[in-house]
Amino acid sequence: MKKPVYLDYHSTTPCDIRVVKAMEPYFSECFGNPSAVHSAGEEAKEAIEEARVHVARMINAPPECVFFTSGATASNNILLQGLLLKCRRILGPFKEVNIITTQVEHGSVLECLKEMRYRDEMHHKTHYLSVDSDGNLIKEELEKALLNSLDTLAVSIMAANNEIGTVYDIENIGQICRGANVFFHTDATQAIGKIDIDVEKMHIDALSMSAHKIYGPKGVGALYMRNKNKILPLMSGGYQEVITSGTINAPAIVGFGKACELLLKEKDEENKRTKILRDRLLYKLQNNIDNIIINGTMKNRLPNNLNVTIKGVKAEVFVLGMDDIIVSSGAACGSRSPKPSHVLTAIGNERPEFGIRFGLGKDNTEEEIDYTADRIIEITKSIRSN
Ligand code: PMP
Repeated sequence: MKKPVYLDYHSTTPCDIRVVKAMEPYFSECFGNPSAVHSAGEEAKEAIEEARVHVARMINAPPECVFFTSGATASNNILLQGLLLKCRRILGPFKEVNIITTQVEHGSVLECLKEMRYRDEMHHKTHYLSVDSDGNLIKEELEKALLNSLDTLAVSIMAANNEIGTVYDIENIGQICRGANVFFHTDATQAIGKIDIDVEKMHIDALSMSAHKIYGPKGVGALYMRNKNKILPLMSGGYQEVITSGTINAPAIVGFGKACELLLKEKDEENKRTKILRDRLLYKLQNNIDNIIINGTMKNRLPNNLNVTIKGVKAEVFVLGMDDIIVSSGAACGSRSPKPSHVLTAIGNERPEFGIRFGLGKDNTEEEIDYTADRIIEITKSIRSN
């Protein structure tokens, strides 16, 4: 069978073959525990530190401020829960604090924050900033929330949205937070390699990222912390990565480092290409399908993202009904659950179950894009004519 056209790169990417090759020696040859002081450990440790340098370069951070985790979900949880734990340790259980976030964050931020309030017996508040119909944040709303709130423990705002691709003005948000002397965390999982991130210039205090979105292996990511002492670790033990404990996954970390090294060199070319392909797909769909709505804005959007609503055709028709093309409806992690997309709901889309997400990547070709457009047009016509 011919390989299906894969258009779900926001969900995950294939591991680059050069990344796989870089990882290989660290399974059975250089398998020492990087925390061990003997030569086998030292060899693995050296590779880990080299990977840390490559990951740090992606975000212009000092390597010693980058800590490896099991992915962006872990990074978000370690940061948000860790901040609150530290606050409680220092200020006691009843100090009223506030956390500011947005309605369109990934589930690993939203669910984490929800759970944190229960565990904290509602002693802190969470403020969810709304977005406009393009998915953009209203800057004044953030400023107002900072002014009106009790002590703000942190602001957590994603750098780019995983469903509608909106890119947020992280530099401006960072400036506002710095001006208010408030800790600023960004979930940059979808932004890394697509838009330039500089933790210094953007006044970012903490940042989450993940390897499997950038052609690296799954189950590894990083948390950047300007000052690691702002959080208490969730896990106790060996503190191998200072803010987290457990023997680290050396092959995966080496792969993550390699993926960053490659991306730094290749991202501009890739982004240019995927944007042209994405625009080609949109052009073809818009020219052949009536009543097609773009979810989000085309202005500040990830170059590889498209999210559209085709009136009268539910996204599941495409997601479940095509075995030759892989697309998604909303967030991948949520797409097995029948819950409609919270992001489409937040931008005022009344039928979120109609939103189809296309996530393009470096292996897509013009031929694949044309094939996809033709199939979507064909299926739409057949459903609408029934
Ligand atoms: N944040 C965002 C914005 C994401 O898109 C994802 C992955 N869908 C995550 C966090 C979670 O990443 P991971 O799979 O590495 O836990």
